Amino acid sequence: MEDEEIAKELADSMTAIELREFMSEHGVSRSRGASKLMMARRVVEEEREMIIDKLDLGEPGATVCCACGYEEHFDSIPDAKEAAQKHTIQDADCHAKAWHDKMGHMIYGELGA
Ligand SMILES: [Zn+2]
Repeated sequence: MEDEEIAKELADSMTAIELREFMSEHGVSRSRGASKLMMARRVVEEEREMIIDKLDLGEPGATVCCACGYEEHFDSIPDAKEAAQKHTIQDADCHAKAWHDKMGHMIYGELGA
């Protein structure tokens, strides 16, 4: 993803006040009278990785697995949830779980099932 796109996403997702607060919290200097987009660009320059995580732009996927041996990776979280649900419904013995690749938490299923 281009820095410019990230900056636009950031500018869209935060108010100017939030952006200003974020910058002071993270010690990102800003010039007086900078527009929201200009501030967003500065933040992306300084804290690119953090912003990608914050906005969830890292295109996280999820992995669905089941005790029966079924395992499949999905690029989108909703697709993974849907597949896990379908797999669980189609077979009474199956309790598929879906795991968020990046965060590592379970997004579908029950622990111990
Ligand atoms: Zn299964």
